[in-house]
Amino acid sequence: MKTPPPDPNDRGHAHDVDLDDTFDFLNTDDTENGFPVDKLPTLDDALAWFVDRGVIHVEGANRVRDQVSSHDPLMARDLARIHKVRSAMREVAHAIAEHRAPDAGSLDTINRALHARQVIELVPAPDGVSVDHRHVGDPIDDALARLADPLVTELTAGHPERVKICASDTCEWIFYDGSRTSRRRWCDMATCGNRAKAARHRARERAAVQGDDMIQADAGGGSASAAPPA
Ligand SMILES: [Zn+2]
Repeated sequence: MKTPPPDPNDRGHAHDVDLDDTFDFLNTDDTENGFPVDKLPTLDDALAWFVDRGVIHVEGANRVRDQVSSHDPLMARDLARIHKVRSAMREVAHAIAEHRAPDAGSLDTINRALHARQVIELVPAPDGVSVDHRHVGDPIDDALARLADPLVTELTAGHPERVKICASDTCEWIFYDGSRTSRRRWCDMATCGNRAKAARHRARERAAVQGDDMIQADAGGGSASAAPPA
């Protein structure tokens, strides 16, 4: 018997969720130029994102879609549940990064989400034993529990001091600082880090220009270079 080669696009049943997935989920509650932008504005967007990250099966997502099918209150309830756990996880990540106690309501929300986790079990594999999981509850609860898991693991066995919030006030991305010195301040040096540098540079230039203006005003504002005739 020949087994087909694994499909690289299929993340399989044992879809692992890591801290990057968790932070990506938290950063879907985004800020652009200082304004909030939700990257998961509808239940459908959220389900598609969960399927893409392998925290919900396509069948699970379709089951939810069938259950709520254009029933607005149900859709709104499920979306609110996803947003609520996401905000609670953001609050806890902020608390870790800012070395303070998190808000008690947020902890309750995450703890409730964690209780809805899938059941891990051992299953036979052609070449030995592998780990699989059984979904016991609602697919959304399950997805949220799986996304909360890496944060718990980081707290218990990782480097919570490396959980950081981007220093740009117009960004606020949550990221993991994997740098050797653990002194990273920006989610991304190419964007936020550079924007901050460029802003400092512009401020210095403005200050220099204002200084020049004052000197020129003192000198009577004479024109140093005459424009050539057009
Ligand atoms: Zn940033």
